[in-house]
Amino acid sequence: MNKIWDILHDKKTVVFLDIDGVLTSYSYGEYHAHHELDFTPEFRDINIYADCKRLEPIYRYIQQHGTDKIFCISREPHGHEAWKSEMVRKLYGIPIDHCYYTLDASEKPKIVKSVVKKLFPDIDPRSVVCMDDNDETLGMYMKETPFCTAHPMIFMEHLLPDSQGFSLR
Ligand SMILES: [Mg+2]
Repeated sequence: MNKIWDILHDKKTVVFLDIDGVLTSYSYGEYHAHHELDFTPEFRDINIYADCKRLEPIYRYIQQHGTDKIFCISREPHGHEAWKSEMVRKLYGIPIDHCYYTLDASEKPKIVKSVVKKLFPDIDPRSVVCMDDNDETLGMYMKETPFCTAHPMIFMEHLLPDSQGFSLR
């Protein structure tokens, strides 16, 4: 049986969240998931994060878990780090110094391992969860770290209708 949902809700669990596609819905363009100017130099000057909306199920989870053990790890090749950090602070209350960036997604496992070693040296690796929407990245975490992995769709699976629209179980 899948244990990830229970592990995510264990108070001692440390969670590393990808940003694009986990803390955002990845709806950056007008007609596309990517912004129309992505893959062009002009894209560097566009703050696609200014209009991002809070994803309520993840927000509720983060509020409940507390931001002390919530971190972000994101690939950022366009120089958008400051805008991204500001967005996760504004929408989710995640401290800016909890955000880590890399130019190369393949570095993510190494970065998470070094942060865990530094900040939580005695933690059980089964109390660390790396959440990413990218299948290749999840595979790298699984192969290169002893930590648990999760895909953000797990929040959809646990949505239940209630009087306010939904709740998590
Ligand atoms: Mg992503």
